[in-house]
Amino acid sequence: MPVKISFRLKLVLSYFFVIAVSFLFVFYFLDKNLAESILIRKTILMGLLFALGLAFMLGSVLAAQAVGPINRMIRVSRRFASGDFSKRILGYSGDETGELAVTLNKMAQDIEDKIRQIQGQNQQLSAVFNSMVEGVIVTDISGRIVSVNPAVEDIFAIHKKDAENRFFLEAIRNNDIFDIVDSVLKKGESVSGELKLSWPVQKVFQVNAVPVFEKNRVNGCLTVIHDITGLKKLETIRRDFVANVSHELKTPLTSIMGFVETLLEGALEDKEHNRQFLTIIQEHTRRLNSLVNDLLDLSSLESKATMMEKTEFDLKGLLDRVLSGFTTQIMKKSLCLENALPAGLRVRADKARMEQVLTNLIDNAVKFNKNRGMVKIYCGEEDGGIKITVEDSGTGIPKKDISRIFERFYRVDKARSRELGGTGLGLSIVKHIIELHGGRAGVESSEGLGSRFWFILPR
Ligand code: ADP
Repeated sequence: MPVKISFRLKLVLSYFFVIAVSFLFVFYFLDKNLAESILIRKTILMGLLFALGLAFMLGSVLAAQAVGPINRMIRVSRRFASGDFSKRILGYSGDETGELAVTLNKMAQDIEDKIRQIQGQNQQLSAVFNSMVEGVIVTDISGRIVSVNPAVEDIFAIHKKDAENRFFLEAIRNNDIFDIVDSVLKKGESVSGELKLSWPVQKVFQVNAVPVFEKNRVNGCLTVIHDITGLKKLETIRRDFVANVSHELKTPLTSIMGFVETLLEGALEDKEHNRQFLTIIQEHTRRLNSLVNDLLDLSSLESKATMMEKTEFDLKGLLDRVLSGFTTQIMKKSLCLENALPAGLRVRADKARMEQVLTNLIDNAVKFNKNRGMVKIYCGEEDGGIKITVEDSGTGIPKKDISRIFERFYRVDKARSRELGGTGLGLSIVKHIIELHGGRAGVESSEGLGSRFWFILPR
């Protein structure tokens, strides 16, 4: 092992060496007689000792001056090496050691700035990573999960700590997404695909996986999972809507065309049937008219272009007026009708729209009622608002249909609804109007026993 000799010792030893050599030199060249003189020998020996003592002191002082800053630099640079950049080398001189101290200080400052910059960027990145609605999975080349964000935890009902550092399929038991990641790692090319999950929730995702390169070699895979369930649903609703509208318009139009052709081909002169044919045409035209009106209504309500013109008015009075419009149907079915709203019940809402809501609900309660059934309208308090209920003792709604009953064109019995002059848009309009008032609408119903349609208007 090499012997470590400090700088201070080296300096003192070199002084000693120089002095000893000088004295040997003096001895060597001194006159023989003189050298034999005891006095001179003593003097020279004393001089040698004095010179050595002086050399030791001088060497120590000079070495301390030279070594002090170096030792300080060593102490501070050891802190730098351990990642502590809070200290700087102070009190340096103007010589080479001072220059070294300045360079070390600058290097420390630069490293500290870089570390701070990288830490800032890391914080930003992890904030983005953690708050992304899209799920992000990072895997290494062996298919081990390096990192997942909270969205992935929600999507696959897993915990970050259980997923990270494990092989993909051990943490996320989904072969479809694994195949995508595997293909990216093997081929080094981006892959996109659709992923249908039925557990923990039924959802559809768009998966985009890209390779991560390091020195031109695939080193891992970054997978982004985007929830497109809403988008898919909207797509289906739009497709269904177009199909429904076309179908609803086609039926009366085909009928009208058929009867017009029959009339033109000679039935016009047929005194016995021509009026009957024209009445049917009129009925279908009315149906088309109400369908188009409902569609326009719904479209303006959905685009929120319609502002609710809220005024304060007496709801019981409005209901009485609506009910008077149903007198014939009520009498025809011998229905027992009760307006149980308290007199002078005042609400703040769009009066014309509220009339539309009540008309649609009562129309249904009458239409889908049995002979000698009952219709009752009453109110109560709920969620700090006023709850209006239209109850009937009619056909009721099967359990499987209840959740969809407010959808456009959704009808329990299509043929019956059409026969009764319905468009299948009434409840949808009700829901939109109530929601535009900041309230909500709903239904409770038992098949064969009756239904309770309700809406809550905020106070
Ligand atoms: P429409 O009455 O024009 O068919 P709605 O949107 O008003 O359309 O209603 C949709 C469907 O909901 C109806 O076709 C019917 O099947 C069901 N429905 C609505 N109200 C009642 C009710 N009071 N009793 C039984 N079924 C109802």
